[in-house]
Amino acid sequence: QNVLEIKDLHVRVAQTDANAEPIDILKGVDLTVRSGETHAIMGPNGSGKSTLSYAIAGHPKYEVTSGSITLNGEDVLAMTVDERARAGLFLAMQYPVEVPGVSMSNFLRTAATAARGEAPKLRHWVKEVKGAMSELDIDPAFGERSVNEGFSGGEKKRHEILQLGLLKPRIAILDETDSGLDVDALRVVSEGVNRYQEREHGGVLLITHYTRILRYIKPQFVHVFVGGRIVESGGPELADELETNGYERFTHAAAADT
Ligand code: ADP
Ligand code: MG
Ligand code: MG
Repeated sequence: QNVLEIKDLHVRVAQTDANAEPIDILKGVDLTVRSGETHAIMGPNGSGKSTLSYAIAGHPKYEVTSGSITLNGEDVLAMTVDERARAGLFLAMQYPVEVPGVSMSNFLRTAATAARGEAPKLRHWVKEVKGAMSELDIDPAFGERSVNEGFSGGEKKRHEILQLGLLKPRIAILDETDSGLDVDALRVVSEGVNRYQEREHGGVLLITHYTRILRYIKPQFVHVFVGGRIVESGGPELADELETNGYERFTHAAAADT
């Protein structure tokens, strides 16, 4: 049983203009994700959802000013980015980076080595990757291409889910995994997430603006995220309400609060 615990998290972001004051984005986030659970974080654009995933990932621009993040009681904030991966955290980013000159298969093996603490045996590894690729309808030639270079939005997302299946993390954080996907790709990607959860009994934190992906991935817990904090938590019925009524009820309440 793995537990990711976020307590009263406050995060400040350095602005692109170095002379501009940093801004406080997260204003007290409390969230606990356990093995086998799927949590959806849903909120309007600019509410700080990606800031939450960057803070968990350890992105240097995002400064945690107070609060804590632990995985099985270990202080995640004290870990380097690599140590976080080794500890079993997986973070699929809204804007995955391009790594020219590094082939997908090399990249995946390096990532797996970091996550497992030893290099997978080459013969097994090739088989493993082939199997995982075919489950995601990924062309085998994909393995020879540079990481994310010239990938379409859909290919990047498939690549993320390929990593998820191969790295077998304890807790997976997926930021806008549904954005830019057509219906077929959305189904394939969602099935990959569901398979990961069935096989690995992982915990999933699914961050999304739209309710569309929730037709394929069923969260037990739904959190509405507005103004840098969770303003309401509930079950799947909360997502249904958002699908019908949007975020207005919550953005009004948050505005009245401040
Ligand atoms: P979401 O993912 O919910 O759309 P973000 O976390 O991306 O929200 O952004 C929250 C707020 O923080 C936005 O107002 C955004 O403009 C601001 N922000 C995020 N990252 C930066 C940054 N690196 N520099 C300046 N502002 C940022
Ligand atoms: Mg955004
Ligand atoms: Mg975002």
